Amino acid sequence: MRELRETEVVEWFETHVPSDWQRSVDSMSAEEYVEFQRNWLRTLNERGFGAPGVPEKWGGGGYSLRDQATIFAAGARVSAPPTDAFEVSLNHVPATLLTAGTPAQQERYVRGAIDGTVWCQGFSEPGAGSDLAALAARAVRDGDGWRITGQKTWSSHAAHAEHCLLLARTDPNARRHAGITYFILDMDQPGVQVRPIRQIHGPAEFCELFLDGAWVPDENVIGEVNGGWAVAQATLAAERGPIALPTIERIGAELADLASGLGPVEPADGPRPPLSRAQTDLAALLARQIAVRSLALDTVDLSERGSDGGQLNSVLKVGWSELLQEATSAAVLLAGERALAESDSEHFLGYVSGRPGSDWLGSWAATIAGGANEIQLNIIAERLLGLPRDPSRQPGGSR
Ligand SMILES: Cc1cc2nc3c(=O)[nH]c(=O)nc-3n(C[C@H](O)[C@H](O)[C@H](O)COP(=O)(O)OP(=O)(O)OC[C@H]3O[C@@H](n4cnc5c(N)ncnc54)[C@H](O)[C@@H]3O)c2cc1C
Repeated sequence: MRELRETEVVEWFETHVPSDWQRSVDSMSAEEYVEFQRNWLRTLNERGFGAPGVPEKWGGGGYSLRDQATIFAAGARVSAPPTDAFEVSLNHVPATLLTAGTPAQQERYVRGAIDGTVWCQGFSEPGAGSDLAALAARAVRDGDGWRITGQKTWSSHAAHAEHCLLLARTDPNARRHAGITYFILDMDQPGVQVRPIRQIHGPAEFCELFLDGAWVPDENVIGEVNGGWAVAQATLAAERGPIALPTIERIGAELADLASGLGPVEPADGPRPPLSRAQTDLAALLARQIAVRSLALDTVDLSERGSDGGQLNSVLKVGWSELLQEATSAAVLLAGERALAESDSEHFLGYVSGRPGSDWLGSWAATIAGGANEIQLNIIAERLLGLPRDPSRQPGGSR
């Protein structure tokens, strides 16, 4: 395992982040923005910062969780470009294939994913989001492979993806968790249609997938046939961990910027005036940011000691996503009309990009993605507080 010095990482980011990149990507098409992110990813990969937790053998950095936190925080502090077009490639693909893939699947796909092949995730369906085990896309045996028919939705970056991590039902008569298989789907084929969905803040990174007899050979089944639910847990775990740290760091930096825009707290001379309402609101948000950041680092510590963090991950998810909404809302109130002027950006520039209107609209995705907050609150209520379970709910199956 490599060792990392914090000052060295900060210095690296300060030297390598392209200057004024936010403005320069404004005129890019969606394809050009993916290419821009790919180039930035390759720069990150030169130091192992693109996929810092993935072993070096597969093109990652092989860094400890603590070092990953340092890398994410340093990037966020200098507003490094996002690599969200590669989120599935950098997190979900190695987490899934290095746990449950065959050696041939690992050789064929992992290094390419880290190096900039776009992958998407085809889990959610119109009738299966929080209750993922209700998924209905069907895979039917055909010669030495499978034909898949059904609809997926909210598949991020599917319009640019070469491959998809896909769940489909292979045994409709089994218990609902037991009849699901995990596939690698090649996106470039006649049975796959992708339709982007434009979001409220401008980008169209989400997509619907329409599958009509799409072909998957047997060699692209991950894990056992009908054993996909267990494999999916490795993918879902990749949506947790230090992944929230960059956003938490950006919130802290943004709150500090907003506070300094309100003028000095200590006057040069004369008595100290009472703080304005806006200043006390920002101070309260900053106190929460410090608490959420500390919780995030606690979950990193727990993971390093071999625990999955349990319900603390749910507390963290609710904590950072609600804080994001309130911090971006405060920025909108302070920006006034400027927030309206900048509420529509073609590209996702990070959850806290310094464009108040767009950041606030985009912040609403955070309480839904990676498992909706209401589901996290159910988990906290039942498992942390020991409250009784709602008897009307289906057993298990939640994201
Ligand atoms: C930014 C973003 C990126 C995403 N990317 C992908 C992707 O790449 N691939 C993919 O497959 N999916 C993706 N998703 C989909 C995401 O996983 C789902 O949106 C999420 O699981 C919620 O499912 P749903 O939208 O169907 O909402 P539903 O499950 O229909 O929920 C609707 C509302 O009801 C509430 N609710 C549901 N069940 C309960 C319950 N038991 N108790 C209390 N409240 C409940 C929910 O919290 C929510 O408020 C993404 C979503 C977002 C926002």
